[in-house]
Amino acid sequence: MPELPEVETIARGLNKRIAGDRIESVWIGNKPEPLKSPAALIARTLERARIDRVRRVGKHIVFDLAPPNGSGIRQWIVHLGMTGRMVVAAPRSEAANHTHLIARLSSGKELRFIDPRRFGRLEVRESSFSGTGTEPLEITSEELVRLFRGRKAPIKAALLNQKLLHGVGNIYADESLFRAGIRPRRRANSITRFQYAKLHKALRQVLKEAIAAGGSSVSDYVDADGEEGFFQLRHRVYGREGEPCLVCRTPIKKIVVAGRGTHYCPRCQK
Ligand SMILES: [Zn+2]
Repeated sequence: MPELPEVETIARGLNKRIAGDRIESVWIGNKPEPLKSPAALIARTLERARIDRVRRVGKHIVFDLAPPNGSGIRQWIVHLGMTGRMVVAAPRSEAANHTHLIARLSSGKELRFIDPRRFGRLEVRESSFSGTGTEPLEITSEELVRLFRGRKAPIKAALLNQKLLHGVGNIYADESLFRAGIRPRRRANSITRFQYAKLHKALRQVLKEAIAAGGSSVSDYVDADGEEGFFQLRHRVYGREGEPCLVCRTPIKKIVVAGRGTHYCPRCQK
C-alpha cells in the first residue's frame, strides 16, 4: 500500500508533468467501486478543466482544477488504496488491464487510473479538501504531545490513527519508533515528553529520507510515468524479523499491534 512518501513522490511527479495542462475528455469504466462521486459528476467536473496543481494531502492526491467557466474551486481527489496507480501515458498507447479512468489532455498525454484490486477511490469536490488529522511533516513537537499524551492506546496504534496524524502507515510507524527507541506496545500516555521529542524528530527524518529516496515500497509499484521508479529505503526494522538489529545485533521481533505486523528491537526500544 502506498504510504505518505510514495504519494508525495507520485503527486510531485504528476505536478511536474501535467500542471497547466487541460483535460479535453474523460473516459470512465463501468466498475462502480472506484467511484466515490457519480461517474457523470466526475466527467462533468474534469472535462475542459485546467489542472492548476497536483499535490498530496495525507495519503490523497489532490488535483486543483480551474473550471472552464472560471467559477468555483474544484478538486479531484484520488486515493490509491492498495494497488491503485496514476500513470501519465503516451496518447493511444495500449491501456493496461484494470484501467478505470482515462483523462485525455490537450498536450496529447493521457492520465490513467489503474487499480486491479479496486480499493482506490476517485472523488470530486467543490470545496477545499484538507482530510482529517494533522500533517506529520507540519506538526510541532508540542502539538504531538498534546495530541497523543492523553491516549491509552499503544503508541503504534496512535501513530496509525488517521484522525490524529494523516498519512503515517505501517512501515514508517515502525521505523520511527525504532529510531526514537520506543516500544510499539507502549501506551501513548506512558511516554515522556523527552521521548515524544525524539519521536517527533524520528518521524520527520524517516518521512523526509523516504521522500528524498523517491518513496519506498514492498509491493510492485509504479511512479507517475509508469516506471518502477522507486528504490527501497533501507529499513532498519520493518520486514527484518529474526535478522540482527543494525545497532545491537539482537534479533528483530515481530508482533501484532492494532492488527498490523509490527517490528522492533527488544533491546534498543523501551
Ligand atoms: Zn537493537
